[in-house]
Amino acid sequence: MSKKAKVLIVDDDALNRIVLEQTLSDEHQIYLVDSGEAALAFLATTQVDLIILDIVMPGIDGYEVLVKLKENSQTHSIPIIFISANQSHDDEAKGLELGAMDYITKPFCASIVRVRVRNQLLIKQKNDLLERLASIDGLTELPNRRYLDENLTREWRKCKRSDTTLSVLLIDIDYFKRYNDNYGHRAGDDCLTKVAQCMAAQCERGSDFIARYGGEEFAAVLPAVSKDQAIVFAEKLRNAVNKLAISHQASLHANHITISIGVASTADTAIASAEQLLEHADLALYAAKQAGRNQVMAH
Ligand code: GH3
Ligand code: MG
Ligand code: MG
Repeated sequence: MSKKAKVLIVDDDALNRIVLEQTLSDEHQIYLVDSGEAALAFLATTQVDLIILDIVMPGIDGYEVLVKLKENSQTHSIPIIFISANQSHDDEAKGLELGAMDYITKPFCASIVRVRVRNQLLIKQKNDLLERLASIDGLTELPNRRYLDENLTREWRKCKRSDTTLSVLLIDIDYFKRYNDNYGHRAGDDCLTKVAQCMAAQCERGSDFIARYGGEEFAAVLPAVSKDQAIVFAEKLRNAVNKLAISHQASLHANHITISIGVASTADTAIASAEQLLEHADLALYAAKQAGRNQVMAH
């Protein structure tokens, strides 16, 4: 059975709140607040799936609440349905232009409100699914390059704001072309997936992630992790992949699959952007390859 969606109702009129709650509480989990200020405070700590927002309220009105929610990355994708006694087309157009998904006029018909809420929740569910699919690599099921680019930039900004160290690893499978040539492309795909899943399983902190960077290369993003800690984590990944003991008889330095890893961190003051952080990790990776592969090098 699917979990009940969380719906926040924002209305200064007590009777409206009660009627809306009665209309929707059979299908959804309802939260009630009586002002724009209370809505913003509530949403700062609680996630909801949809908001029904009155426009005319004392204090900050519905339009202003909507604009504030759209500006905040935590709340900008929550669908909002305006509900208002204003029957004017201009007001309705303004609400929709600001980014509301729908507009209901008071007095409302309960069965229509129910259907409109259901429709918006369905659209939100589908959008969320699309967003997830667009961020996942189809073969390994790890986050993909698009996810990496978006989140690395975000983590870069966060680390600058909070004055913490951000570390990244670039990870490359050794002699993988020879693996494909020897065992076939399908076996190569299986090997890539096994290595990817094995590495992802080593991430214990919720803030760390490993993405497929491209081909047989992966990138690990480690917020608030020093260069030394990043090297320890890289060694953990290298050992875990060694332990998989995936036979690779065509490798030029081992009889199983190995990885090389380059480490870079923002503790190095010469690094001025997220791209440069990756470039430095790439230089370290190149050094690890030159030094004989199956090893970790820090820039
Ligand atoms: P090195 O140790 O220097 O990294 O050598 P390498 O052979 O691993 O590196 P190279 O860049 O020469 O070759 C990478 C190979 O990875 C070539 C390419 O066919 C293979 N590859 C990239 N993506 C995939 C994929 O999705 N599936 C499979 N099976 N192979 C892939
Ligand atoms: Mg390689
Ligand atoms: Mg490569």
